[in-house]
Amino acid sequence: MTNSGSAVTVLAIGAHPDDCDIGAGGVAALYARAGHRVHFLAATNGDAGHHEMGGAPLARRRLAEAKAAAAVVGIEYTVLDNHDGELEPTLANRRTIIRLIREITPDLILTHRPNDYHPDHRYTSLLVQDAAYMVTVPGVVAHTPHLPRDPVICYMADDFSRPYPFSPDVAVPIDAALDLKLEMLHRHTSQVYEWLPYNAGRLEEVPDGEEERRAWLREAYAPRSAHVVERFRDLLAELYGAERASTVRYAEAFEASEYGAPLTVEARMRLFPFEGV
Ligand SMILES: [Zn+2]
Repeated sequence: MTNSGSAVTVLAIGAHPDDCDIGAGGVAALYARAGHRVHFLAATNGDAGHHEMGGAPLARRRLAEAKAAAAVVGIEYTVLDNHDGELEPTLANRRTIIRLIREITPDLILTHRPNDYHPDHRYTSLLVQDAAYMVTVPGVVAHTPHLPRDPVICYMADDFSRPYPFSPDVAVPIDAALDLKLEMLHRHTSQVYEWLPYNAGRLEEVPDGEEERRAWLREAYAPRSAHVVERFRDLLAELYGAERASTVRYAEAFEASEYGAPLTVEARMRLFPFEGV
């Protein structure tokens, strides 16, 4: 793949203030480093994502964590003030997503697939799908100028298999960005070192020291990006050549949605300009 030279704007829309980091933190770092514009958007404020705290104090803590993660790679992070665990694909939420997509004017949107264990993930995906096409209709959310055409929309990787397994059209090696992705996740303290280990029954494994935590985090999260390589080595070989693909250790992958602009070969080369990273 080659870079056509023009900067692209990428908008990742996740349900919670860490989902974009987990699904696309590596490519976000690569885009930002290459001078492209990246905006992360969380559809909820994350105020239910903890076992010991909640409500406004947790929402504010998670907003601060999201901003700190964004600062690691120099991207923007917006967190909508919707309650965690209660997101619904309402007209009001659809209008908000349409307005934000129009204001940010992305060339590429990344989001969850509609089949996912978490209702907020499912409904975030639905909201993005419901906003697709409507962003081009002038009479919808009429006070915000419509887009001339749909952005490309891609789903972030997951392991769910019904009704069909994640089937990526693009895989991006993120070896050169894994450290930054982990640094972003490190900023989500309330999640990666508190709530998620608690929820998994592993809280006692989490070390106290900053450097010990970083090492623990790498052990917990790097295998996820390695797993993407194992699953989609053939696609990496198709896109980058077998020799190059054989050296990749970490990757993120994306599947084009039928509801966005088509991910043609030309669009893929323009939107994922990551040859040789
Ligand atoms: Zn989530």
